[in-house]
Amino acid sequence: MVYLDNNATTPIDPAVADKMTGFLREHFGNPSSLYPIGRAGKEMINEARDYVAAALGASKASIYFTGSGTESDNQAILGVLDALPDKREFVTTTIEHPAVQETAVYLEGKGYRVTYVPVDATGTIDLNALRDAVTPQTALVSVMHANNEIGTIQPISDVVRIAHEQGSLVHTDAVQTFGKIPFKADDLGVDLLTVSAHKIYGPKGVGALYVRKGTPLKPFLHGGHQERGMRAGTENTIGIVGFGEAARILPLHFEADRVRLTLLADRLKAGLESAVPKIHFNGHPERRVKTTLSYAFLGLESEAILLSLATKAIYVSTGSACSEDSDDVSHVLTAIGLRPEFARSTVRMSLGRFNTEEDVDTTLRELPEIVAKLRKISAWDPDEF
Ligand code: PLP
Repeated sequence: MVYLDNNATTPIDPAVADKMTGFLREHFGNPSSLYPIGRAGKEMINEARDYVAAALGASKASIYFTGSGTESDNQAILGVLDALPDKREFVTTTIEHPAVQETAVYLEGKGYRVTYVPVDATGTIDLNALRDAVTPQTALVSVMHANNEIGTIQPISDVVRIAHEQGSLVHTDAVQTFGKIPFKADDLGVDLLTVSAHKIYGPKGVGALYVRKGTPLKPFLHGGHQERGMRAGTENTIGIVGFGEAARILPLHFEADRVRLTLLADRLKAGLESAVPKIHFNGHPERRVKTTLSYAFLGLESEAILLSLATKAIYVSTGSACSEDSDDVSHVLTAIGLRPEFARSTVRMSLGRFNTEEDVDTTLRELPEIVAKLRKISAWDPDEF
């Protein structure tokens, strides 16, 4: 199998699986219980918080565990707006993950003034438009750190400067940068930051929200006192333990992974560009997560490419996993100005820790052939593009 869909989710690292299995077998106590089997769970959660905080470059007190990246995004946005009832404006971009985008739509329905700041053809936010959008009435600006479909990295420090000048808080969704590009949450200058365990070789169904000290935030789950009152409900202890282990080993792998995977991705990129005619690269040429490769294969339907590759056990995505079962053209590809027929022919390949040289060789052997075959049987006219 050649798994090239690491932006959708990553395989669990064996060290994480071992840690989780050991924990599952030995511990069942409720972390809120005061006797030893409960306390053991609480201690493991605490340890996991240390590891996530260290990997993020943040203080332990700033980390809250949640049920997913999606929940962290919702908690950040709804929690800040709830805490600042006098400010009725929210600013975001046209290329956010649905976890932010749909929350923005929900807010519109609640009467908030929501501004979607456009991006250019590389997927980079228009900072002048951002400047025009943010007002003293803006409670929060939410701009993703890097895009999941095309990998473009946003100039977050500029976003922070513009927003803070108007007294607005800043949230960034760093689900696609955590573990891939070097950053420290505290240094980014944002007030809130989202991460998710299953994009860093940890389990699904657990995320974290970084909240800078002093940030006004209301919980949206009400109940027990878990997560210092910010997220009621008995903790997903096993998930948090897995997240902690994934974060603990992250710094051990980070530099080697980054160097090796950048080389692999660059080789795949160069190989595809020389072997496949009429393809269009989506994203920023430089400011991007290098392991994300998004291409329009002109004249073809992305599903046809995806299914043909799957018959060779090569797994890619037609855009983002979250829009996979919808017929709509990706909002991200639309936002960067891609023609609908280009967007419908777009395939995303994303590399991760367990990809090898051989994976790249196999893809470079199979994909050009598949594209040539599909183009032969399709009605595409190369001169049209
Ligand atoms: N934000 C981004 C940028 C993502 O890529 C994803 C996952 O695809 C999420 C949020 C959602 O994270 P989760 O799957 O943990 O809800």
